[in-house]
Amino acid sequence: MVAVKNITRALCTTPICLRLANDFVKNLSPQYKSIDPCTNFEEMVCGGWRLRHEIPASQMAIDAIGLIREENEEVLHAILEGPYPGDLSRNPPSTDKENFETMKLAYTTCMDEDGLRKLGVTPMTKLLDELDGAFGSEDWSQSLVFANLVGATSLVSMYVAPDLDSPEKQVVYLNSEVGSGAGLSLPNRDFYTNTSMLMNEYVPIVANILQAVLPGNLSADSAQQARDLVRFEADLAAISPPASAGFYDVATRASFSEADALAPRLGLSKVYTAFAPPDIPPVDLLWNRAYIGNLSQLLDATSRSAIEGYITWRVILATQSLVLSDDHNIFEPFNALRNRLQGIVTTETAPPPRWRTCLASVLANLGWILSRFFTERSFSQRDWDLANQVISDVRTAYVHKLNTVSWLDEPTRAKAIEKIHLLVQKVGYPTANPNLTDPESLRVYYAPVDITSSHFDNTRQARASAMRRNFQQQLGKPTDRTSWGDFYAVIANAYYAPDTNEVAFPAGILQLPIFGGEDLPSAVKYGAFGALAGHEVSHGFDKIGMHFDGTGRLVDWWSDGVLDEYKKRERCFVEQFANMTVYANDKNASGRGYPVDGLRTVGENEADSAGLVAAYDAWVLRRELDGNKTGLGLPGLTEWTDEQLFFLAFGNIWCGVISDDGLKLELRQAGHAPNWGRIMGSTANSRGFREAFGCEVKEPVCTLW
Ligand SMILES: [Zn+2]
Repeated sequence: MVAVKNITRALCTTPICLRLANDFVKNLSPQYKSIDPCTNFEEMVCGGWRLRHEIPASQMAIDAIGLIREENEEVLHAILEGPYPGDLSRNPPSTDKENFETMKLAYTTCMDEDGLRKLGVTPMTKLLDELDGAFGSEDWSQSLVFANLVGATSLVSMYVAPDLDSPEKQVVYLNSEVGSGAGLSLPNRDFYTNTSMLMNEYVPIVANILQAVLPGNLSADSAQQARDLVRFEADLAAISPPASAGFYDVATRASFSEADALAPRLGLSKVYTAFAPPDIPPVDLLWNRAYIGNLSQLLDATSRSAIEGYITWRVILATQSLVLSDDHNIFEPFNALRNRLQGIVTTETAPPPRWRTCLASVLANLGWILSRFFTERSFSQRDWDLANQVISDVRTAYVHKLNTVSWLDEPTRAKAIEKIHLLVQKVGYPTANPNLTDPESLRVYYAPVDITSSHFDNTRQARASAMRRNFQQQLGKPTDRTSWGDFYAVIANAYYAPDTNEVAFPAGILQLPIFGGEDLPSAVKYGAFGALAGHEVSHGFDKIGMHFDGTGRLVDWWSDGVLDEYKKRERCFVEQFANMTVYANDKNASGRGYPVDGLRTVGENEADSAGLVAAYDAWVLRRELDGNKTGLGLPGLTEWTDEQLFFLAFGNIWCGVISDDGLKLELRQAGHAPNWGRIMGSTANSRGFREAFGCEVKEPVCTLW
């Protein structure tokens, strides 16, 4: 800290300010007064957080957003266990109450462990018998439709989304996610080159499960079936594009008749017809043509029984969480192998409490009904107004900034500004498709899902309905920019979608310490939620977002010279983060440092840094509009200036603790840098930060704009 002198100003003492101020103070390192914020800001603002929070046994890390997630889950748990929260005297019984009771039935049915144990794997065995009847002689279409409807990705996954070239209309995407392993059962394609692991560990596990769940007539030689299907899965892995090969880079357009000609055995037009609404004009398909061609050849070279075994195995895995086996969990060895290969190491010995499983199930099956009751409790109209204002302010600041950036030429500048103007901002919850404020809209949305006392059937129906809804409600219609898809309002996360140029902040993420409503000092509002809003808006210009224009079209809108300047700035971020060494910081940490993958995380790092700058600028603009008054202070933090409070609030959203194993996993997989790096990198890239704390060097290390 530079000046340890109390600033004379009014303090915010509302309950929310007291709670947050108390947390901020406790989260500070006990030695914070002797820590230099210019070199160790993370330890300064989060050192105390780590003393107060331990990594849960089931996890490898916990952070401020993880705590929001846990708190949201407690709220949702209380909703699911409690009575209908509305006005019970309403007569006749309201649709709202009926929706609630439907959700409760789905929950209690899932919670009935005794009943589920009595059934054992029978529902799955019946399903597999049905699947067996869908293996036609001509092509794989019938079984692929079946697998898609029960939520299993296998040879084919199809979904409807905006056309990359004309985002106002919808097209069909084929296997766009298979490259990252969606059709593979082990964590990614690289594990399939380890033949001894496949044959000595994976195959016996598969054989045991097949033996336990297949109908008697099909399980005769489960060992042979397991070997064949694992070999096929390994062949599939070998032709799958690596995760680093972006689908957008290779996607080309085809008609379904071309698709049938290239891969007759997949029966793609039949799969499509099974889902598409009747009587709509022909729709294009976007696919990785070379991959589907290779897949077609592989199918020709593989025995029917191996492919049947593979699809069966994928259906088993997709439905494993819906059955409870009698004495022990027969799927446990497979999940343990997967976790081990991935590097997931936890100290948890017991399975998670059943309510967590059932909460996840209700969320997946009836997520918008659950979201309605969550938002009623945890998000107000005033929250909605405030969040929208902060996002709008961030966008205004962005436009100001873009107008002054010297390395942009005028055509590119105009396009970038247009992209900010066209951005769709979604806050809290949807008001269409479905409208969360209208119980009737929710009822209609879930009408095809008939919730009964069968947990297995409930989930099966919900999945089939979601698959059909995606096709029926979108194909042949203009792109619906109001839909939230399945990004439920309870989710503690946010997103930017390049193909619709939209940001979404569900009520689930608009919770303390990210968002605390209008009472908080504006430095805190903008330092926390503003930075998050800035992060998502900035994704529009990161390494992926930059390829899309304001309408969501995949098009090059950067002039050549400008593009070189952009790449130069991008390289700065890559190097800055590649030069970072990060350490685990839980109580058992080894003290060993690890490097960050600067290249893989560059998009998130750009978004963090540009977002923090935009939030700071937005706050300064807002303060000017409000007459440049000193903001309210927080009790216990009176020596912090408004500017310092801004960055204190920012740091607090990324406080966390992580184990060595957790850190190694994150560094291998995550799109973003570890939390420590997010705080240190973004503040090093903020002139506002360096000025606020009187750092010697004021120049940011890297800036995008
Ligand atoms: Zn991001």
